Amino acid sequence: MIRIYDTKMHKKVDLETVQHGMVKMYVCGPTVYNYIHIGNARTFISFDMIRRYLEWRGYEVVFVQNVTDVDDKIINKANEEGRSAVEVAKEYTEAFIADMHAVNVKDPTVRPKATEEIDTMIALVQQLIDTGHAYATDDGDVYFSVRSFNSYGSLSGRNIDEMEAGHRELRTEGIEDRKNDPLDFAVWKAAKPGEPSWPSPWGDGRPGWHIECSCMSKKYLGLPFDIHGGGADLVFPHHENERAQSEAADGVTFANHWMHGGMLQINGEKMSKSLNNFFLLRDILETVDPNVLRFLMLQTHYRSPLDFSDERVDEAGVALERIKNAVKALDWALENATGADDAVDAQAAEELVRTTRRKFIEAMDDDFNSSKALGDVFDFVGAANALVAGKTLSAADAEAVRPIRELIVELMGVFGVDMEAALAGDDDADDDIPAEVEELLAVRTEARAAKDWARADEARDKLAELGWTVMDTPQGPRLERI
Ligand code: AMP
Ligand code: ZN
Repeated sequence: MIRIYDTKMHKKVDLETVQHGMVKMYVCGPTVYNYIHIGNARTFISFDMIRRYLEWRGYEVVFVQNVTDVDDKIINKANEEGRSAVEVAKEYTEAFIADMHAVNVKDPTVRPKATEEIDTMIALVQQLIDTGHAYATDDGDVYFSVRSFNSYGSLSGRNIDEMEAGHRELRTEGIEDRKNDPLDFAVWKAAKPGEPSWPSPWGDGRPGWHIECSCMSKKYLGLPFDIHGGGADLVFPHHENERAQSEAADGVTFANHWMHGGMLQINGEKMSKSLNNFFLLRDILETVDPNVLRFLMLQTHYRSPLDFSDERVDEAGVALERIKNAVKALDWALENATGADDAVDAQAAEELVRTTRRKFIEAMDDDFNSSKALGDVFDFVGAANALVAGKTLSAADAEAVRPIRELIVELMGVFGVDMEAALAGDDDADDDIPAEVEELLAVRTEARAAKDWARADEARDKLAELGWTVMDTPQGPRLERI
């Protein structure tokens, strides 16, 4: 049974799905006014891992993610740059999709855009008015009436009266005058001059941010759906408001489970432009391999804060390299399985595969503990190395060892790391071994055959200066990049 930490319940609960064998999930997408940063990427990679794991466990996953393509931030950016909001949103939507592909995040089943769903949103706003949960003002705004929804605050654990006190201060400053109650929030905003707008029963305007997720989740998943996700900063007000609108309008549960990812920080501090520690995903990918970045992210449990630093990037690079090298060593042993005698304990190999699979499932079933699961994969890789090191496999050994190699690739796939592609990338690099390096290897091999150790060591040192090392395997010397 998969257990997930449910924000609303404040504890781990069994994942109960509405439809047997199917998980319907909704993860709030970006507001497209800039390239996404690595904090956004962390949340999207976490939910991609969760989705991949659910699929690996046999669920059919319907994954919906919106694109917020109308918003104050987009309008401001368009004004600053003298462009239209539509142009700005289009550019950054395309960039977002490209960035997601670059880190191997799967496309959602449906990716609705706010601007293409205005009619559905107007219908929901009308439904809220009809059921007495929202009201229009003379200026053409429509507000959700927070006190009309009994359990407002229960998702984020807030007390409505304490919130009221905070808002009273805003009211004395004259900001909140148009609302019946300072707690109320906009579901429809009257158009201001020069802003994108659509006709509605309340005059020209545009939707509030929260209403779009209420609409799109209902339209593409139906209510209730199984999992609603996002970063922890969305719990309040965004998710609290989505839930209030949806449950008030339809009188049914909105999402059965709520999942929130921890924030990415830089050297222990919040990432922000003013602190000059703000990194766009695409800038990081100039120097960091996307597989290494995924590794780094998934080495931390998705709910914990994640500290991003150069050291963490280096560590993740070394970790991935270790796994790649283990697969290469297995491939080498499998390709050269010419031994006459069995050298590997076949039962031990089988047991290793079985226990690793079990431990991986245990870790991941426990609220997607990718950090623990990756640790298990490392133990597995270490044990696999020990099993074949220095041995020439027989044909029977190869049969016993092949499932180990297959399991490493399979489990890395759950983390969105395509091992075959990563290894193929290395092979391409191996194809370009410079002639000088090949020559030095030949010198070293000759020298060793002639027992001229000084000359062999000299060749080895020169190879090291050029960034290469020689692995002596039962099948002969092999060049590796250092
Ligand atoms: P936004 O475009 O601001 O709505 O953000 C898109 C997604 O990125 C949301 O799920 C946010 O919770 C998430 N997010 C924003 N900043 C961070 C951060 N520093 N760490 C992790 N997730 C973040
Ligand atoms: Zn949302």
